[in-house]
Amino acid sequence: MRWGVRGKLFVGSLVLIVTSVVAANLYLASVLEAELTQRIRAELDVRLALMERQIGREIIDWTDVAACDRLADDLGQRSGTRVTLVRQGGTVVGDSEITTESLAALESHAGRPEIAAALNGVTGSETRVSATLKRRMAFVAGPVRSGATIVGAVRAGIPLTEVEDAVARIHRALGIASLLAIAVALLISSGAAQFISRGLRDIIAIARRMAEGDLTARTLTTGRDELGDLGRTLDQLADNLSTSLRDLRAERDRLGRILEGMNEGVLVIDADRAVVLLNPALRTMLQAEPPRTGPATDVMPAPAIALVPENLHAVLEKSLASNAPATGEIDAGPSGRRRLLVHAAPLSGKPRGCVAVLVDVTEIRRLESIRRDFVANVSHELRTPVTAVRTALETARGVAKSDPASAERFLDMAFRNAERLASLVQDLLDLSRIESGELKLDAAGVDISAVFAQVLGNFVAPAERKHLRLSHTVPADLPSVCADRRALEQVVSNLLDNAVKYAGDGGSITLRAARLGRWIRLAIEDTGPGIGPQHLPRLFERFYRVDEGRSRDRGGTGLGLAIVKHLVEAMGGAVEVESTVGKGSTFSVTLPMA
Ligand code: ADP
Repeated sequence: MRWGVRGKLFVGSLVLIVTSVVAANLYLASVLEAELTQRIRAELDVRLALMERQIGREIIDWTDVAACDRLADDLGQRSGTRVTLVRQGGTVVGDSEITTESLAALESHAGRPEIAAALNGVTGSETRVSATLKRRMAFVAGPVRSGATIVGAVRAGIPLTEVEDAVARIHRALGIASLLAIAVALLISSGAAQFISRGLRDIIAIARRMAEGDLTARTLTTGRDELGDLGRTLDQLADNLSTSLRDLRAERDRLGRILEGMNEGVLVIDADRAVVLLNPALRTMLQAEPPRTGPATDVMPAPAIALVPENLHAVLEKSLASNAPATGEIDAGPSGRRRLLVHAAPLSGKPRGCVAVLVDVTEIRRLESIRRDFVANVSHELRTPVTAVRTALETARGVAKSDPASAERFLDMAFRNAERLASLVQDLLDLSRIESGELKLDAAGVDISAVFAQVLGNFVAPAERKHLRLSHTVPADLPSVCADRRALEQVVSNLLDNAVKYAGDGGSITLRAARLGRWIRLAIEDTGPGIGPQHLPRLFERFYRVDEGRSRDRGGTGLGLAIVKHLVEAMGGAVEVESTVGKGSTFSVTLPMA
């Protein structure tokens, strides 16, 4: 059974009260009894003294039992006590409560302590149950002398019933008083217990709410007692806890925001390889394809553990096993097209684990590969005309004297290749200036008709050589386009150059312009050989050619379309191509309206 504070207080006070009442009763009764007995004894002493003298005078013959008993009866009646006369030796010769006849049957009283003392010359006294009368009596006995000789003893006895009655009355009165006192005390103690336990219950209820996480709960106690102290201490505890919790939450939120805002992926696993943390950036890296431009789009949430690929686990395991940082590069994303650089480091302290920071290096690696390819391509492209120039010059020198006509031809060849080299270098320089942003483009309203007319003028002679028909159609009300005039002329010129270069004899080339909402679309259509669909996606890459031999023959550098694309994009537009093999191609450029 569980005892509440109230029960314990109640039982405790009950035991205390009952014990003190019983002790008080016993003490009072014994004191009273002793007092009364003392008084009776003093009374007996007085009466005995009177009797001793009278007996000394009146008894001459201690063997005359009849006379002695008569005297005892007389004294007993007058003094209201039991009077017993005992001869030296112990024989009872008179007793006020016993008939003369019965005296002979009485045993010797020499052994009674009070009588033994009296027969020895001193006053004796005792309280005991009388063997003769079967009652509790107080006895006092004194010697009776004849001259100097002790001839007998007289004993006065009083039944103690009076004392017993008085003690019993006191017991009763004390009993009733005690019961009343107990009742009152119990009432008071139960009230006090109730009061304390209610206060405690209130505090316990609040403490329980705090334990369940409600740190706004307060006891708001104002008392000056221990319960008040307890309540205030609890309130202060809750205040302190709230502050610490608020600080902790703020810290956690700050860390959370940092992790959320990071571009780098962060992964934390524990010693059991369970994912403890996986930030949104990493989730995106592992779930979505690498973006072509701009940040990744929203992704559906997936269980963290399912996202962590095997190869990432391998780097983490390496770090955990060696208890040292580990680095690696992994392919990730749904189709493994993302390249992630992983730095893993073991977490010190307990519990153990591992933290990994992942950086998306897809774009860096792609650019590195482009750069490598570009350097290789440039070297290759430069080597060919340089070799041709050197070979032609060597040959020309060899035949200069013997065959001046051939020497002339070789010098022409060297010159043509030097021209190609120059245009290649020029294209490369253009491209790098556009890419580095060094080429400053001034956007302004440009009249398309004027641009078309200007550019077409430069191609009249080459077109005539190939019997090509050149035409342009521009609506009269076409608004100006927002572009850099020189850049736009270069774009149109490069596209027209290709159309003239690759068109067969006798074809036609048409330049068109039209308005599409807030955009202006320029198109260069030719009836040339067309381009196979497999080439179209890569057509605008640097050095990409459909037919390398034919491009070179016609003085192509493989950079014309790459320059077009860069210039158009730098002006906020887009370029695309449609083509059918055997029928012709249409390159279109879309630019914003001025
Ligand atoms: P190039 O200097 O070789 O002409 P470009 O970048 O201008 O380089 O063009 C890339 C390739 O696209 C060319 O080699 C050619 O094969 C093809 N091409 C470009 N324009 C046309 C066109 N109008 N008709 C057919 N093929 C074309």
